[in-house]
Amino acid sequence: MELRANNFTCPSDEIASYIDGELTPKRELELDAHFMECSICADELNLQKHFLCQLDSSLKQGAELDLPPDFAKTIVANAESTVSGLRRPREQFNAVFICAGLFLFVLFASGADAATVFNGVSVLFEQIIAVGGFFGHLIYSVFIGLSIILRSFAAQVRYDLAIAVALTAISAVSLMFISRRALRVRRAG
Ligand SMILES: [Zn+2]
Repeated sequence: MELRANNFTCPSDEIASYIDGELTPKRELELDAHFMECSICADELNLQKHFLCQLDSSLKQGAELDLPPDFAKTIVANAESTVSGLRRPREQFNAVFICAGLFLFVLFASGADAATVFNGVSVLFEQIIAVGGFFGHLIYSVFIGLSIILRSFAAQVRYDLAIAVALTAISAVSLMFISRRALRVRRAG
């Protein structure tokens, strides 16, 4: 028995295929015979079968736990209340306040000294008015979308803070873009 097990090379890399039924019937019989004689491979076979069993049951459990029937409804309701919530005056005020603060911050952070900045402000406002309609709408849409996502998935977290951070990032980037462009136009002219 020992001798035969040693003569027959242990088919450890074929055990998975054996479990999946991917071997030829002839090879399957050979492995069957080997498992009867080789305790190492028999143990390995049991181990892999056990692992697959556990994996299977945990996947099934996961599928049952996931997504309650009213999941989609909850998300939609959440999003709807988010949009109407945004219309509350206090939040609008917060948004405007943050934007105004950022506007000043970006002006000073854009690399120019104060005098150049204030000389550039009028040009800047022209630029903002020119692109403002489009840009404002874009920013507003992105803001709404982001806040819906943030509120839906981070309802437990401080969403006010999260929205402020997102708004800050969006505003900083767009204002940086606008102010750079305005200052460049100013220097060229
Ligand atoms: Zn073996």
